[in-house]
Amino acid sequence: MAREFIIFECTECKRRNYTSTKEKRNTPGRIELKKYCKYDRKHTVHRERAK
Ligand SMILES: [Zn+2]
Repeated sequence: MAREFIIFECTECKRRNYTSTKEKRNTPGRIELKKYCKYDRKHTVHRERAK
């Protein structure tokens, strides 16, 4: 299956905090998730970045 490796980047400090994979066919476009950023010490929006 075509699982794509992706990185989640914090939109506030721009650090890359999380990695994941996704099924490209099922989830076109960029994913945005609220995740905890240890650098900002709070939950921020993390945006998908292609590797
Ligand atoms: Zn951050």
